[in-house]
Amino acid sequence: MTMPKLGRRALLGSAGLGMLAAPAIVRAQAAAPVAQDTTQLEINRAMPPETHRFKLGDFEVLVVKDGARPSGAPNETFGTNQSAADVAALLEENFLPTDDFVNSFAPTLVNTGSDVVLFDTGLGPGGRAQGLGRLVEGLAAGGYSPEDVTVVVITHMHGDHIGGLMEDGKPTFPNARYVAGQVEYDFWTDTARVGTPAENGHKGVLANVQPLAEKMTFIGDGAEVVSGITGMAAFGHSPGHMIFNIESAGRRLVLTADTANHFVLSLQRPDWEVRFDMDKEAAAETRKTVFDMLATDKVAFLGYHMPFPAVGYVEKQETGYRFVPKSYQFEL
Ligand SMILES: [Zn+2]
Repeated sequence: MTMPKLGRRALLGSAGLGMLAAPAIVRAQAAAPVAQDTTQLEINRAMPPETHRFKLGDFEVLVVKDGARPSGAPNETFGTNQSAADVAALLEENFLPTDDFVNSFAPTLVNTGSDVVLFDTGLGPGGRAQGLGRLVEGLAAGGYSPEDVTVVVITHMHGDHIGGLMEDGKPTFPNARYVAGQVEYDFWTDTARVGTPAENGHKGVLANVQPLAEKMTFIGDGAEVVSGITGMAAFGHSPGHMIFNIESAGRRLVLTADTANHFVLSLQRPDWEVRFDMDKEAAAETRKTVFDMLATDKVAFLGYHMPFPAVGYVEKQETGYRFVPKSYQFEL
């Protein structure tokens, strides 16, 4: 036997409104129907994108959810050198579905007081059909216009990081200068990429990054972006992938970009191969070096694909690391 559902109105009725209301209102009703698929996409679009703001010393950090999308069978992206059963078991152990994983995107703005630095740009116009590419909307919700951005930092040149650089063939952030890794830029712009699996990426960089090259500073390991923000080479995920140490008033956050792409599968099993990692061995070594450091020093990090708001800590475990997402009182 199925239990009758208590509708909201029925509850209100029994709480005393029944005295005033017409009898029709007292009758139990079905809850609002659950929106499905395209309807849900429309509803999401109608709501402002999620944002999250916190302090880092004297800096202000604003994380924007550019979007999130279902991304298929987890074991076809993570643990590609493992059995599907082992990948599924780890997901189940962590209360996650085994048939699909969600990938989300978190471009981040850091206001240092003298500069407004944006790290990565989301999927841009190319993601809109899927309800992605909402960075500019999110910045607006956080009180920033594209004109406010003085520096755009590109951690690496995969499409989900450079897609928002241009809008209708024009720079999205008209007043910004740009900072990107030299190794990364040289790799993607090289015509040797034509006819290889990197050809699409090559085309994307020619369309979105190369037009801005004149306003770009190309950096390597240890380079300062602005006072308090330093680039560190973290190669592997892509040939010139960079991460950033951000420090203000003695407080510290490391922006790890795509060093780890899943809060369970990449962090708990850093050695597992990931389809997105272009040099799988180097990416695994970098993952362990970076997250060992963060666990040992108990330093907060912000990972582009971590569950929104994409910030937290890691705790070292026997194998790999446990993601400890931010909770209350996360002001650094
Ligand atoms: Zn990415």
